[in-house]
Amino acid sequence: MPVIYIGTMAKPATGKKKRAAKAAKTKTRLAKAKAGKAAKLKAPPQQAKADAKAMHGDIPRWTDAEIDEAFRRFAAREPHPKGELHHTNAFTLLVAVVLSAQATDAGVNKATPGLFAVADTPEKMAKLGEDRIRELIKTIGLYRTKAKNVAALATILSEQYHGEVPRSREELEALPGVGRKTANVVLNIAFGEPTMAVDTHIFRIGNRTGMAPGKTPREVEDELVARIPAKYMQHAHHWLILHGRYTCLARKPLCERCIIADLCKWPGKTVAA
Ligand code: SF4
Repeated sequence: MPVIYIGTMAKPATGKKKRAAKAAKTKTRLAKAKAGKAAKLKAPPQQAKADAKAMHGDIPRWTDAEIDEAFRRFAAREPHPKGELHHTNAFTLLVAVVLSAQATDAGVNKATPGLFAVADTPEKMAKLGEDRIRELIKTIGLYRTKAKNVAALATILSEQYHGEVPRSREELEALPGVGRKTANVVLNIAFGEPTMAVDTHIFRIGNRTGMAPGKTPREVEDELVARIPAKYMQHAHHWLILHGRYTCLARKPLCERCIIADLCKWPGKTVAA
């Protein structure tokens, strides 16, 4: 017998309405989760203010003696720092760095063993081809473009450089997918050049601490190269990256365990000078 609804009696939702209500609830839940995540990633207001001040160059600059002292401490604590990207030769280093753009070293390290097991030279990589490379690196962000670049640079090295990675910045930067930062990493790690590859960590440290303020990575690079004593330049890039990755974190720097806290000029630091 059909049910008759009278006056204000609410009709039960139809299947279509139920689905729409459920979808709206899920949308709200996801939006709340997203907002919560964004809030967690955001620096506390005081800290954000201090970072903004540092970015405007409104904090005292370090003296030469302070820079020397910071690197003396980094060197004493870790005399032979190592990069975290796995590689076996200059070519696999170059490929790993190209793959690491906008990706984490850990993510790249998960994919490269399979790739390098079948192609650890430009000749083998060129022979492997773009499609197979793409398949092997598909867990890494921007893998389609990166596969294309790796295949193209392997072909160039194989055909024009006798399978060797060139040692000059100009030649490196002319390769597909290789910019100044990648060239700096390869020149430093593979060939021992005193270069400074400014990534997000080094850019933050340079500005936040007052060690090397600059509006662009290039400005920070030039300042660091000009001011870090030559005897520390070989490892300076690694020390700063490790400091940014494990101590001077973007959102919540661990100032209480920082070995250069007394030298740091950041107004937001959480330990007394
Ligand atoms: S004290 Fe150390 S960890 Fe804190 S902001 Fe300065 S450099 Fe970074």
